Amino acid sequence: MMADLPDGSGHPDLDGVDVPAEAGDGVLIDRLGRPLRDLRISVTDRCNFRCRYCMPREVFGPDFAFLPRTEILAFEEIERLARLFAVRGVRKFRLTGGEPTLRADLPVLIRMLKAIPGSEVAMTTNGTLLKSQAPALAAAGLDRVTVSLDSLDDATFRAMNDMDFPVALVLEGIEAATAAGLGPVKINAVVRRGVNDHTTLELARHFRGTPHTLRFIEFMDVGNSNGWKMDEVLPAADLARAIDAEWPLEPVDPAYLGEVAQRYRYRDGAGEVGFITSVTQPFCGTCTRARLSAEGSVYTCLFASDGVDLRGALRRGDTDGAIGALIDATWRAREDRYSELRTAGTAGLKKVEMSYIGG
Ligand code: SAM
Ligand code: SF4
Ligand code: SF4
Repeated sequence: MMADLPDGSGHPDLDGVDVPAEAGDGVLIDRLGRPLRDLRISVTDRCNFRCRYCMPREVFGPDFAFLPRTEILAFEEIERLARLFAVRGVRKFRLTGGEPTLRADLPVLIRMLKAIPGSEVAMTTNGTLLKSQAPALAAAGLDRVTVSLDSLDDATFRAMNDMDFPVALVLEGIEAATAAGLGPVKINAVVRRGVNDHTTLELARHFRGTPHTLRFIEFMDVGNSNGWKMDEVLPAADLARAIDAEWPLEPVDPAYLGEVAQRYRYRDGAGEVGFITSVTQPFCGTCTRARLSAEGSVYTCLFASDGVDLRGALRRGDTDGAIGALIDATWRAREDRYSELRTAGTAGLKKVEMSYIGG
């Protein structure tokens, strides 16, 4: 039996974790003492899937008003903001969406972001277009890719993406990414009780012994469209126990401040598996992420209802100093810890949709 099941104690808080003082020109700290380290950049609000937990087609149907092109940040605007975030300590940029690979000429943006000294650029994708795009993404300097894949059972996966898209093509995308040098790939699987929980061990078995790391994500109450119910959350501890019973696990120490996955190593040397326990064991204490929406608003929490409009500042010609001051003020005022405060009541608050700020 695994000695140390996830119980919340595995999350580091800022005490005892070395926060380097030399990040950028200065470390920007929020009201709860958390530094700004990562920026998730949503490059489009569109997607070629209609995952029921994210963009259910009843809401995101043919009449849904996606952002018009002119309202989406241009690459030059994203780059300018990214540089301003970099000066404030951000080193990791993650491209997301919607589905980021739907944005035309993405390699051009990757090159621009990689030109920022010390930057790392990663991407989260549903993997559908990796087969054709992986070589160009890798050549542009993309450092890593995370592929979302909720089940290997074809019928379950086709129903979850609600586009009848087959598993086999996503697996081919993962292979293409690996062949292009973007591996090892992280695989994200959202677990929804009664929907795909019966296929989790099959996923674990498939990725054991490969260089890729599978991470199970608890179904979250993001946005207001996905009909979230606590009953559908399978606690990561239950899943970890089931995997441990099959293939014994041992905990791995967090690799860095703000790591969101609790990681476990298979005792037989077959690699690692991770759990993102946002619901049952929140990790707000180490949350160092800001999120930039496709239309240029910055959100300081995945569950925020409002963002701060940076596009307006860019387009009215504000100086770097003025836009930087807006970013500073936004982060300094931050006191979000939605997941730690989550109750039946908070789940119903108005929140930005996941497809809008990219998870
Ligand atoms: N389209 C890309 C993809 O699916 O990887 C990037 C954007 S997607 C919003 C980012 C991540 O959020 C995916 O791994 C997805 O599974 C996860 N996600 C979306 N809705 C979720 C929910 N309600 N609970 C937990 N994770 C969710
Ligand atoms: Fe699209 Fe990703 Fe949301 Fe699925 S999770 S609908 S692939 S944005
Ligand atoms: Fe960060 Fe908000 Fe998630 Fe807490 S709920 S970990 S503050 S994004």
